[in-house]
Amino acid sequence: ASDNSASDNSGAERTLVLVKPDGVQRRLVGEVLARIERKGLSLAALQLRTIDAELAKRHYAEHEGKPFFGDLVEFITSGPLVVAVVQGPRAIAAFRQLAGGTDPVEKATPGTIRGDFGLETQYNLVHGSDSAESAAREIELWFGSK
Ligand code: UDP
Repeated sequence: ASDNSASDNSGAERTLVLVKPDGVQRRLVGEVLARIERKGLSLAALQLRTIDAELAKRHYAEHEGKPFFGDLVEFITSGPLVVAVVQGPRAIAAFRQLAGGTDPVEKATPGTIRGDFGLETQYNLVHGSDSAESAAREIELWFGSK
């Protein structure tokens, strides 16, 4: 029988998390992973990778054509990043809560990763899938056998 109690962090929901190149460069990987673990979420996969533009464009396909797209692809491919599959009850929403809003000053509040450590929207340290559909697509994109 399944156990849906709040302390059960074996919940099936999974989300794709990135510590973007700014977070790795600033040595905030441990800080981000500590917050994920303290929240009660679990790591199901974890890698340090440097990605090419093809993967970056596929990951951010929904933003193709927007004014920031080129800079975003350049930034996300600029150095090593950490990619993780994070698992637990309501993992998608829970990580978005930990991350805070996209703009680290106007939207993310203190106490969140972006609110505590970010200043600029592009360099906002982390990514987390925004829906169940995005999570499935992104986990397949980053970890699927292709
Ligand atoms: N971004 C940017 N300028 C913008 C909006 C977004 O540089 O005006 C970057 C930022 O790094 C953001 C990413 O593009 O995290 C993806 O944007 P999205 O709206 O999906 O935000 P998120 O889901 O990451 O909060």
